[in-house]
Amino acid sequence: MKIQEGGLRILVAEDDPISRRLLETVLKKWGYEVAIANDGEQAWRMLENEEAPRLAILDWMMPGLDGIEVCRRVRERNAPTYTYILLLTARSQREDLLQGMEAGADDYLTKPFDANELKVRLRAGRRILELQEQLINAQAALRDQAARDPLTGIWNRSAVFDILQRELARSERDASPLAVVMADLDHFKKLNDTFGHLAGDAILRETVRRMAGSIRNYDALGRYGGEEFLLVLPGCDLASGLYRAEQIRRAVTSEPVDTSEGRIAVTCSFGVAATDGLNHQNSDHLVHRADAALFRAKHNGRNRVES
Ligand code: GH3
Ligand code: MG
Ligand code: MG
Ligand code: MG
Repeated sequence: MKIQEGGLRILVAEDDPISRRLLETVLKKWGYEVAIANDGEQAWRMLENEEAPRLAILDWMMPGLDGIEVCRRVRERNAPTYTYILLLTARSQREDLLQGMEAGADDYLTKPFDANELKVRLRAGRRILELQEQLINAQAALRDQAARDPLTGIWNRSAVFDILQRELARSERDASPLAVVMADLDHFKKLNDTFGHLAGDAILRETVRRMAGSIRNYDALGRYGGEEFLLVLPGCDLASGLYRAEQIRRAVTSEPVDTSEGRIAVTCSFGVAATDGLNHQNSDHLVHRADAALFRAKHNGRNRVES
């Protein structure tokens, strides 16, 4: 997300009405949104808010809480998003600037301020905020990446297992049923041996696309192993779990998969287990039951659903 010049809100805390007015006018002219505080107390109250402006221009000398103290409090609270602070100071205090920077100010500007200088300083501040935002987004992307299977993009084994545990706890809390489905492609080793691993990979991706297309958005789909998938279906009892698994089986096997080696027919076996949410169920045990059902599906001829 990019912080736009026009979209960025700036808090101006200044007790001197003339200077305050001047700042407000010039900031608005540059397209910033401006929030005004007449003293330090008010500024701190506004900055405490979750929706607080992320850039603040604080006058150093204000009655009650001064800019330095507001600055110190902002830094102490250790919020997840950074507040960029520009301290306004009279020329006579220039020698005290170290104190201001030590309190956690990012930059300072002497009064009476020069408009061009202010413009440049704000640009620097915006840049810092943008970088911080990029960092937060990159962290979130990394977290998401760590939970994904690289080949297919769906949840990996540990992530889907986490989801199962969470959904299982919820099902017990709400006394609602939950079904898990274990799916395993049939004779996949043979497909790999016949058509090669690249075609095998293409089949895995297309299988996932078909499975994902036939589940609801509060269901979860994960790659449990090589050609094995775990589905978590909240709200489904055994009967609807069986029904849903059969729908998914039909979607997966509906038509051959296009690969570089030609169109390849695939079939898939499914095992279903469910809990009613009334009796405590261990997630390992539930998965184990779905696995045993899958084994029966394989044993009974494959390309079918068993419980
Ligand atoms: P069954 O019907 O009993 O499930 O037989 P199967 O051949 O599918 O089962 P098996 O467990 O013997 O073989 C699974 C194969 O899946 C072996 C392995 O080469 C293949 N496989 C696992 N992960 C991948 C992958 O990421 N890409 C490709 N192309 N193949 C994979
Ligand atoms: Mg003042
Ligand atoms: Mg298999
Ligand atoms: Mg397998």
